[in-house]
Amino acid sequence: MTATSTRDVAATVRQVNQLVAAGADVVRIAVDSSQDAAALAEIRRRTTANLSVDLQENYRLAAEVAPHVDKIRYNPGHLYHHERDKSWQDKVRYLVEVARRHDCALRVGVNCGSVDPAQRARFDAGDVITPMLISAEEHCQLLDALGFTRYCVSLKDSDPARVVTVNERFAAARPDVPLHLGVTEAGLPPTGITKTRWAFEQLIGRGIGDTLRVSLTVPHDQKQQEIAAGRQILADIHAGRMLNAVSGALGGLNIISCPSCSRVENEAFVALAEQVQAMTRYASAYPITIAVMGCRVNGPGETDAADLGLWCGPHLVNLKRGSQSLGAWPYDQILARLKIELDQLIAARQQ
Ligand code: SF4
Repeated sequence: MTATSTRDVAATVRQVNQLVAAGADVVRIAVDSSQDAAALAEIRRRTTANLSVDLQENYRLAAEVAPHVDKIRYNPGHLYHHERDKSWQDKVRYLVEVARRHDCALRVGVNCGSVDPAQRARFDAGDVITPMLISAEEHCQLLDALGFTRYCVSLKDSDPARVVTVNERFAAARPDVPLHLGVTEAGLPPTGITKTRWAFEQLIGRGIGDTLRVSLTVPHDQKQQEIAAGRQILADIHAGRMLNAVSGALGGLNIISCPSCSRVENEAFVALAEQVQAMTRYASAYPITIAVMGCRVNGPGETDAADLGLWCGPHLVNLKRGSQSLGAWPYDQILARLKIELDQLIAARQQ
């Protein structure tokens, strides 16, 4: 996925081509506005890459982007934000009609941080897997009923063990539906690669998964690391080189961070994630999760499940303890504030 601003056509085309040169078969671009969609048209003219687009809340943008891409990813949990009086089923019918008209595939992209609220409300708060699963299944059923067959599903979580469980369950229920695999917000390399590898070994090793993405928090000009890591993991699995001993690396302090995309609010985000990792090293033995997210689109929701969460705004970084907001601080002050919270959390757990 590109991390450049989609409206910066030259930089985005450069990144698309860089990813393709590194071995990417599909490149995804985020589109949040008509301006982004206009830029996408120009990007399409300048590259022959197989392009996918990531729609967020504004599902109607599908009509503007579909002529320029091969696949549209929509998130069932985001279909609620616009036109609240309209059912999600009607919105999916619209997406199918657009996809058909422009010969596009669809991806039903379910994400742990933005699960359909109607499904989440039906289950115990501790059960994060079932709402994701039911949401994916009901979208498949509707697509099937509409006779639309060019679709795949993804079920992503920042916890590799949950990625394995939810994908195993989905594959058992719907073996006919292609699955796109990913550990979302896997974080900085090398830990981000280790988490992803562990999940992919379990799934691909059992024949589950058709496409994949490795999500790493790396600077824009190093996004090809994601492709190299994915290719290496695949080669190792096919050669039987499994890293079964990595589970130890998944215990203790867990830093999850998003891979960044065109929605990042401040380019200092990647450096901040690296600083958080360095600053928190002293706490590596504690089973504490810290989430670092790049924007307001997914940041607030996808930090809820972490013990401590940071999400970036243009000038301030928001700090949370669980789902509780603690305030926002400038980029050069947030680490000190985070350390106070982390020390308090460690002290509370030692009592
Ligand atoms: S949290 Fe925001 S910046 Fe990070 S990958 Fe998700 S949408 Fe992009």
